[in-house]
Amino acid sequence: MSQDDKNKKNGLIVIGGGITGLTSAVTWARFHDTEKEPVLIIEKEPKLGGFVTSYHRKGYQFDTSQMISNCNDMFDFLGIEIDLKRFKGYYTRIFLVNPDTEKVKVMEIPSGFEKFKKKLMKEYPENAKQVEKFLDHSRAMYTELFKLKTEPTFVELLKTVVSCPKIIKNSSKTFKEYFDQFGITNPDVIEIFDAFAAFSGLPGDRAAALMTVGAMNSLIDNAYRPTKGFTELANQFEKRYKELGGEVLLKTRVEKILVDNGEVKGVQVEGGKKFYSDYVITTIDPKVAMKELVGLDTISEVDPKFAEKAEQVRMSPSSINIALGLDDKLDLAGLGMDCGYNVVTTGGESFSKLFEEYEKGNMAFSEKQFHMGVICPSLTTGGKPNITIRVVPIGLGDWLELRENNRKEYDKKKEEISNLIIDLVEKYLIPDLKKHIIVKDVSTPATYAKYSGSPTGSIYGMAPFTDNFGRSRLKMRTPIKGLFQPLFSHGIFGCMLGALQVGDMILNREILDGNARLKPKE
Ligand SMILES: Cc1cc2nc3c(=O)[nH]c(=O)nc-3n(C[C@H](O)[C@H](O)[C@H](O)COP(=O)(O)OP(=O)(O)OC[C@H]3O[C@@H](n4cnc5c(N)ncnc54)[C@H](O)[C@@H]3O)c2cc1C
Repeated sequence: MSQDDKNKKNGLIVIGGGITGLTSAVTWARFHDTEKEPVLIIEKEPKLGGFVTSYHRKGYQFDTSQMISNCNDMFDFLGIEIDLKRFKGYYTRIFLVNPDTEKVKVMEIPSGFEKFKKKLMKEYPENAKQVEKFLDHSRAMYTELFKLKTEPTFVELLKTVVSCPKIIKNSSKTFKEYFDQFGITNPDVIEIFDAFAAFSGLPGDRAAALMTVGAMNSLIDNAYRPTKGFTELANQFEKRYKELGGEVLLKTRVEKILVDNGEVKGVQVEGGKKFYSDYVITTIDPKVAMKELVGLDTISEVDPKFAEKAEQVRMSPSSINIALGLDDKLDLAGLGMDCGYNVVTTGGESFSKLFEEYEKGNMAFSEKQFHMGVICPSLTTGGKPNITIRVVPIGLGDWLELRENNRKEYDKKKEEISNLIIDLVEKYLIPDLKKHIIVKDVSTPATYAKYSGSPTGSIYGMAPFTDNFGRSRLKMRTPIKGLFQPLFSHGIFGCMLGALQVGDMILNREILDGNARLKPKE
């Protein structure tokens, strides 16, 4: 039977087969009889996974994403079996560079909340009380997240005032505004906490406090990588999905979300073919989905405020990533590279300034002002020695235009910027690095724009500005009946959780009982 036939209706259509789409689809399949209410993922690329992927260059395997916090409750719940390696020892090291004297100060952040707290209190006795107060407060605020409802009723909202006082008080604050309340003065301690804000792609004076507190607490508890690379995570999702009877259509771009009388009816793909369903979950860039696939006029007819919000959504920055395959003569473990994440930064206002310039469309990354992450996956999960260098924030600029129209210039620009970045890593973190490089693969904002379909090449979804996050974000339940977009800021954990929340909405709270998070096991 042709899909164009309105009688062949899917229970659910999911646009995009990244981790959000996969989680949405598995959630449906887990709670429905897929023979009677089939679920279909439509993905434009030839494989599932989106940014949760690995790629190969000359015998080296590189990952796009680098670490996940503890998602085990969600994996168990969905029946996903994935072998993970936990980062041991230090979760993060910060290399604070003075570019004038070329001196480097190293600050080490151990895994485990209590260990982290003790270490900071011991090393910065003049701020010990303030550090303790801040960390305990942020921990309590983090655990309040378990008491939040995604779409609270009026009575539940009233209860939240009592059950989540810290969240209520700080939900519209930036991380800096929240942090400043605790009177921490030591610049090194400030540097350490600012590094957590930067993980979301925004500086501490712009990122929502709740975002940073959530990321900090979850990652410090546990940070992992899939043993066989991030592609294995996507593979395990796909396996589980297919076991549950889910269907996939690859190499197919959705170009329209069909809406009639304020209700979703299905989608139309490139070439004009239509697929019908009363439920559609879109997991692609919300600006593209709302503006181009639905049309702001269509949304406006139902809810002008939502249309306005969709127009104003701000996406996270893009990035330059350099994946390096190395020979086996470098003592990476001896250099302490077996920690989760090394932040190499000129510190102070650097990240804020880089971000300010990024917002103006400039790139201010230079020898005197930089901020980057350096990760060594092979020391955690094995395989041929490799490192990945990630620079955020980077704007799209002319990257896409050059990639499409002037490949020579694009390659030249890639070479110049990657050489600058590698020189800095060699100077401040891995001596003689260049001598040991066998393979170099550089991803630019154009790479991310192309693969994700995000016009800005955004790598972390919606940017967690205070007015773009939490209760102020673009709602997951769109005003078009049956159309949802489980999008969140930053990362695999948030993507999976958003997808579960949408599943819960569709199933009238059968999954999470309306809670924002899975309840922890007793
Ligand atoms: C370099 C990099 C490093 C990262 N590091 C981390 C990390 O260490 N930890 C972490 O938690 N997160 C990390 N992230 C972020 C994380 O990978 C993403 O937040 C997450 O994978 C996004 O998943 P998604 O499904 O929402 O979107 P995507 O992965 O972008 O998936 C969207 C899918 O939709 C498809 N699509 C787009 N348009 C259409 C269309 N019209 N029709 C059909 N299909 C379409 C795309 O092809 C894509 O497969 C990183 C991201 C990048 C890029």
